Amino acid sequence: MEDDLPGIERNGKKINMASCDQTDSLQQNDPLIWNAIQDERTRQKQGLELIASENYTSAAVMEAAGTILTNKYAEGYPGRRYYGGCEFVDVIEAEARKRACDLFGAEHANVQPHAGSQANMSVYLTVLKPGDTFLAMDLAHGGHLTHGMHLNFSGQLYNAIHYGVSEKTHQIDFDHVAKLAREHKPKLIIAGASAYPREIDHPKFAEIAKEVGAIFMVDMAHYAGLVAAGLHNNPVEVADYVTSTSHKTLRGPRSGFVLTKKDNAKALDRTVFPGMQGGPLVHIIAGKAVCFKEAALPEFKVYAQQIINNAKALAEVLMNGGIQLASGGTDNHLMLADVTAIGLTGKIAEEALDRAGITVNKNMIPYDQRKPLDPSGIRIGTAALTTRGMKEEEMKKVGDWILTVLKSPEDASVTEKVIGEIHEFTKDYSVPGID
Ligand SMILES: *Cc1c(COP(=O)(O)O)cnc(C)c1O
Repeated sequence: MEDDLPGIERNGKKINMASCDQTDSLQQNDPLIWNAIQDERTRQKQGLELIASENYTSAAVMEAAGTILTNKYAEGYPGRRYYGGCEFVDVIEAEARKRACDLFGAEHANVQPHAGSQANMSVYLTVLKPGDTFLAMDLAHGGHLTHGMHLNFSGQLYNAIHYGVSEKTHQIDFDHVAKLAREHKPKLIIAGASAYPREIDHPKFAEIAKEVGAIFMVDMAHYAGLVAAGLHNNPVEVADYVTSTSHKTLRGPRSGFVLTKKDNAKALDRTVFPGMQGGPLVHIIAGKAVCFKEAALPEFKVYAQQIINNAKALAEVLMNGGIQLASGGTDNHLMLADVTAIGLTGKIAEEALDRAGITVNKNMIPYDQRKPLDPSGIRIGTAALTTRGMKEEEMKKVGDWILTVLKSPEDASVTEKVIGEIHEFTKDYSVPGID
């Protein structure tokens, strides 16, 4: 009977895949995937991770996310589920919601959106009808795809109007925001960005939204960790809806959530489920609950302050090395470096740094004359390296390596020398879940 079932041979033993031996490890059952994970593990440990949207989550968050909770269907909300057996996952989701509210001072939290894009979608579907107008930051000036990019659902379904930064200061041009708001009367105004190195003045946006009668949403995906630590003004105090990812500066599992007032709770919850998602990812909700608890600790405040200190320190080294930074510096966890000033493009810089074990991403800079696939800049963030315990002193080294590579991007001997030094250097900085 067993022999008739589809299976594979291993160590002379026939393995029945239909009832795969549950005690077998991933390494034994699926070496291809296991090996790729080991390679990625080594990459995360050996290299310098400077992608501004990435971080290293804690071992506790990863443990929660990698549990048997992935087996459970839990459509609905705590106490009101469409499946049996939800008494324990109810505890988890209720606690995650409570912790999110406590952390950010919100009245209501929905922790079911699978990621940041879904968090944004849930607000749009709650407050807009197809064809409605919203006002958000231009992708080319630091906004996000879900803020109305033409190929994204947000650009396809709605009439997206975009504000940008001033050509002179590279900071949000509030006169332009107000002018567009008065002219287009958007139903929704969105603040928040993916590549903006300065603190965003949420109260100023709220004032403009109030003047034109618009609903106000803040997408704090990038800087949620700084808000949690009290190092960035809290959008919950002035916005109708606040959306976020949990995996960037907040350092949780890869996911999203939405905060709002009690009055909006019912409509928002109905949009997330059954409006746009089926079963929530309960294992990831557990990871978010752990992340919210961690972000409320005094240590997290110290961590978040160090992210900012590190960004300032790195920015200084790069500027001293002849690289121009958009807006001339940074207030938060990231900077946008214009590498055309040293004769490169963003693509060449990204690839050269990658070969040397330094991971960044190419990025448009404000008023970029080049195209998105080969823009003028690179985006650099310090959240991940700060998690590894690096401080200002280490940023000096990191900055010097970046400058060394960018001065000789095609020189293989330089690349080799730098990658060797970096692999040696990173041995001393642990990564949660790896060592
Ligand atoms: C990262 C980001 C998102 C989307 O997050 P995903 O989890 O990748 O879907 C949304 N908004 C902003 C501003 C972001 O930076």
